[in-house]
Amino acid sequence: MPSPEPPHSARPAPGALLRGRLAPSTTGRLHLGHARSFLAAWWSARAAGGEVLLRIEDLDGSRCRPEFEQDAFRDLEWLGLNWDGPVLRQSDDLSAYEAAVEQLLEQGLAYACTCSRAEILAARSAPHAADAELRYPGTCRGRWSNVAAAEASTGAPAGVRFLVPDGAIEIIDGRVGAYRGCPSKECGDFLLLRRDAVVAYQLAVVVDDARQGITEVVRGADLLSSTLRQSLLQDALGLPHPAWYHLPLVNDEQGRRLSKRDGATELAELRDAGVAPARIVRWAALSLGIAPERLDGGSAALPSASELTAELTDAFSWERVPPAEPRTDRKAFEDPPTD
Ligand code: GLU
Repeated sequence: MPSPEPPHSARPAPGALLRGRLAPSTTGRLHLGHARSFLAAWWSARAAGGEVLLRIEDLDGSRCRPEFEQDAFRDLEWLGLNWDGPVLRQSDDLSAYEAAVEQLLEQGLAYACTCSRAEILAARSAPHAADAELRYPGTCRGRWSNVAAAEASTGAPAGVRFLVPDGAIEIIDGRVGAYRGCPSKECGDFLLLRRDAVVAYQLAVVVDDARQGITEVVRGADLLSSTLRQSLLQDALGLPHPAWYHLPLVNDEQGRRLSKRDGATELAELRDAGVAPARIVRWAALSLGIAPERLDGGSAALPSASELTAELTDAFSWERVPPAEPRTDRKAFEDPPTD
């Protein structure tokens, strides 16, 4: 029997609407890596005549802050990015996530879990690298008949985990090509709903991409392994796969990964320092393979960020995005000396 086709990363048929999205989290300030992903997502969708929707990812109440949401709006506008239709703020209405969890529980594809992080750590047999992902060993698989029974046992809300099938799975990424991994070995049965009732990212993103009608997902390569989990969830919930494009991650000038804790590359900090946003658009464009000829050479007639962002739309193409991980370049953001 031929093996089933892996979920493929195809663009919608000619004439069908392509819809991309910007999905900032409000757990911290956005940095240059986010700016580059957002610009690529925007250019990719707009170049195909598509729409771009905005979603504020703010489900983790203990980490998300309203000021980070305000910063995100300012950052996007500062870079000249616009969006279509209403903004979806995840925390406004949890019912779609709850319905998806319910559906998976009813299908027998999810189960209640009462394990704490400390218990999962204690259950590990071999030592692990400090940054290794914590794999859930399946302790609560088949342990509780339902969520209520699990909650009665601890007197506290239970989490809910997705029952990950054994074996490798493959997706096709529009930039990376075939990407294969084994979620049952990497993470095991992952959380859909945490014990503190926070809806987990993997579930939220799948539900939201479907209800927003997203056909194209552009984001950093750090989320590639999550894509396998999302692909499993989409199949389980009967939802379509969008096309996926994962970008090489941006490093700082010393070659280290950017993080939300690094003030020097935060967009809000660059904005406060008086950096012209068109310089960031220019840096991102060059790092995404947009030809230097499309960018004017000097500072004399630096266009506004929204002009430059719009102008470069037709110069963007996935075929030209280089595989190398770009570095930030503070000098590229400074005004050149005037003679
Ligand atoms: N909210 C995530 C971030 O800010 C992106 C999630 C996604 O694109 O699926 O990094």
